[in-house]
Amino acid sequence: MGEARDNDAYEEELLDYEEEEEKAPDSAAAKASGEAVKKGYVGIHSSGFRDFLLKPELLRAIVDSGFEHPSEVQHECIPQAILGMDVICQAKSGMGKTAVFVLSTLQQIEPVAGQVAALVLCHTRELAYQICHEFERFSTYLPDIKVAVFYGGVHIMKHKDILKNECPHIVVGTPGRILALARDKDLSLKNVRHFILDECDKMLESLDMRRDVQEIFKMTPHDKQVMMFSATLSKEIRPVCKRFMQDPMEIYVDDEAKLTLHGLVQHYIKLTELEKNRKLNDLLDALDFNQVVIFVKSVSRAAELNKLLVECNFPSICIHSGMSQEERLTRYKNFKEGLKRILVATDLVGRGIDIERVNIVINYDMPDSADTYLHRVGRAGRFGTKGLAITFVSSASDSDVLNQVQERFEVDIKELPEQIDTSTYMPS
Ligand code: ADP
Repeated sequence: MGEARDNDAYEEELLDYEEEEEKAPDSAAAKASGEAVKKGYVGIHSSGFRDFLLKPELLRAIVDSGFEHPSEVQHECIPQAILGMDVICQAKSGMGKTAVFVLSTLQQIEPVAGQVAALVLCHTRELAYQICHEFERFSTYLPDIKVAVFYGGVHIMKHKDILKNECPHIVVGTPGRILALARDKDLSLKNVRHFILDECDKMLESLDMRRDVQEIFKMTPHDKQVMMFSATLSKEIRPVCKRFMQDPMEIYVDDEAKLTLHGLVQHYIKLTELEKNRKLNDLLDALDFNQVVIFVKSVSRAAELNKLLVECNFPSICIHSGMSQEERLTRYKNFKEGLKRILVATDLVGRGIDIERVNIVINYDMPDSADTYLHRVGRAGRFGTKGLAITFVSSASDSDVLNQVQERFEVDIKELPEQIDTSTYMPS
């Protein structure tokens, strides 16, 4: 956090944020900010949440949520984050990054009627919905704090009414809708004290989204806390993220092998495109699972595969960007609540989405990159639980991606054996 500066200087600094050159950090400042803390395995710490000296209302909600001990990323980040420090944080999937920014925001916020004090941006509507839910869960005993979620696909008048009549203190949303509301002056960002980007690499890598994020950012005051999170933060994207921050505490996982989820058993199956449906059928019959997510590469394939599974009497549902927002969210909620056990999806739910009962991920179509693979399989094996990831390999380029995954994350992915012991992937 820094002093408020003259607006022109501020704009200039942001406008050239794409510059590649990074200044070497001043060592004293770097030390104070815990510069480049390189951490690997995200284990469970024995010290409790009580040590963070959080508000009693928050501790009570933490107990209600069944959280006993902070994960390593929570242990490292929360004490700094609740002091208002900027944070850029990489930690492997499913280790509780959401609670870092949810708890530290709720800890710091002093609600003022009619003022939005915290803004959280993320890349999909489902994730925005999930994050909003986390804020609600942890603010159960802080009834004065109001949270709202805004994303496209819902009538904008509905959001405008909420802002006018029951202005939230915390807003979660996707960039397009937030920008529209801010441009129309329905959403005032001038009191924002906490600016958070979840899945920040995804949000800043795509130039369109980056432009929106930047425009929104410029409408917030200079003096505020900025926090960014992802399981994947390439060396190229880090300086881009840091352009939005001041002396952030930096937590990276430079040894990518440490991003591997150890509770997750990973296999591949070599087959032709034509053999995929038969194989999937056999797997779904043979494997024990609580819930399974099947990833495909396109909207049409998601719809078609789901249709096929339903015809074969599997309890399947699909989600993709080709359906209405209402439909998407209803389906997502139904799956999250366990009403269906199989979800066929595109990469729309490949990141961030947390569904506790998912213990199997099947890559029916190979993801386009090793990063996407990592995010997808991270939907199983959340918070150190067991899980199974099976990937169909049907072309030379599929094999290339699989090899990259194995090399980068130092994981040995073997062919799926004839028999697989249920106890290796079913949570006990
Ligand atoms: P990430 O954002 O790092 O991928 P999430 O924030 O989605 O992970 O957390 C994964 C799951 O772990 C969620 O269901 C969350 O409620 C749970 N969780 C987070 N922190 C803890 C904790 N300290 N103890 C128990 N469960 C936790």
